[in-house]
Amino acid sequence: KCGTIAIVGRPNVGKSTLLNHILGMKLAITSRKAQTTRHRLLGIHTTEDTQFLFVDTPGFQQKHLNTLNKGLNKTVTQVLTEVDVVLFVIEPMKLGEADRKVLALLSDKPPTILVVNKSDLMGDKGNLLPLIQDFDLEFPFTDIVPVSAKKSLNLDELLHTIRKYL
Ligand code: GDP
Ligand code: MG
Repeated sequence: KCGTIAIVGRPNVGKSTLLNHILGMKLAITSRKAQTTRHRLLGIHTTEDTQFLFVDTPGFQQKHLNTLNKGLNKTVTQVLTEVDVVLFVIEPMKLGEADRKVLALLSDKPPTILVVNKSDLMGDKGNLLPLIQDFDLEFPFTDIVPVSAKKSLNLDELLHTIRKYL
């Protein structure tokens, strides 16, 4: 099996960290600063019977729609028409309008997995789902997978979930 997976989400949710830790190597550049990833970055993760081609997208920029940012947003939309699976990454403690704006770029065509990142920062895991439900993302996600990209928690489960759609 093989397929292409886009990683999308507002800046700083941990997209590049997720890609790096899935690949087990430093490929994308991670930083606290938004816009570190200006161009799409590819990474291939190969297991015995599956090849995953990941595309790390630049964060969707909400405020300053200058020429550069228009270019960034176009890259995101382009990538999304070409992939088999979309990972929509959020940080559950910091949901906001920036997340909704990225979500508005998604179509319901490729299976889209809600990746709840930074789960290591959540003290009480029981609060996680209500928190997300209260925010009401209004999108037909096929799956919800909590992970910690930084601590490499639950990444196997994420790969398993992706594999269902390849
Ligand atoms: P991107 O803009 O979505 O690509 O986000 P980055 O991957 O550059 O990460 C932004 C910041 O969040 C960095 O400081 C990361 O170290 C941090 N980060 C990413 N994933 C996690 C995680 O699972 N847990 C914690 N605590 N921090 C994370
Ligand atoms: Mg990045």
